[in-house]
Parts: sequence; structure tokens; C-alpha cells
Amino acid sequence: MVSVDNNEMAVFEGKQDEALCPHCLAANDPKAHFCYKCGTPMSSYATIDPIGSIWATGDTYRKATSRPTRPIILVGMWLIFGVPVLCYVFLVAVWKVLRPLEGFIWFGVLVGVIVLYVAILLKTTKNYFRQMKFEKSQARAPENDSSE
Ligand SMILES: [Zn+2]
Repeated sequence: MVSVDNNEMAVFEGKQDEALCPHCLAANDPKAHFCYKCGTPMSSYATIDPIGSIWATGDTYRKATSRPTRPIILVGMWLIFGVPVLCYVFLVAVWKVLRPLEGFIWFGVLVGVIVLYVAILLKTTKNYFRQMKFEKSQARAPENDSSE
């Protein structure tokens, strides 16, 4: 029994040198700022470093648009991207009325940003409603859970 405990302790001590990713549970170097497997920020430094903070912010948006989201994330995404879209649409409308032929490149950039933000919002919202539909279908079929 003593030898088994020693083996278990050795394994346990080995695991202490690793930090688990909160998203994918991959074992990382405890000093790692980002998960090597999925890119999730793992340290507070990741949000302070200027380049790292860009990656950390992008990671949040990537996850919100690429997998099912919770209501609070959907609301946050609409506040972060929906409000600027309204402002930019207003700006584009005013711009076209006041200066129809000037600043064509910046006008194009603004329209491009609007299209990008709307695409992000549509994808996030679609993911959210797909998740809701899936949860409703699971709730309607309780015999799957009680079959055991
Ligand atoms: Zn990970």
C-alpha cells in the first residue's frame, strides 16, 4: 500500500507542474499566458500585455461566434457590436447626404466595418438560438434521461 501511495504521489507531484486550461483542460506550462492548444488566456498577464490583450479579446469574440453562447454573452455582444453599428449607419447616412463624393475610401472602410459587425452579431445570435432549440428538444424528450 505504501508503494502504491508513493506512485500516486509521484503522479500527483508531476501534475502539479502543469496548469489546466479552463476551456479545453489541456495541460499547460504553469507559466504559460495562453493555452498552447486552444489559445485561451491563462494568466492575468495575458490581459495586460498590449499584444496579448488583443489576442485575449479576440479569443472571447471567437468563442462567442463559434459555439453556443449564454444569454449574458449574447447581450454583451449586442452592446459591444450593436451600438457601434447603429452609430456607423447613422454616420454613413449623414456622410452621404453632406459629402456624397468625398472620402470614398473611408466611406468604404466604414461600410466594411458595419458588414463585419453585423456578421458577428448574426452568427452569435444564430448560435444562441440554436442552443435554445437544442435545450428545448432535450427537455421535450425526458425518457432519454430516465431510461437508466
Ligand atoms: Zn485550452
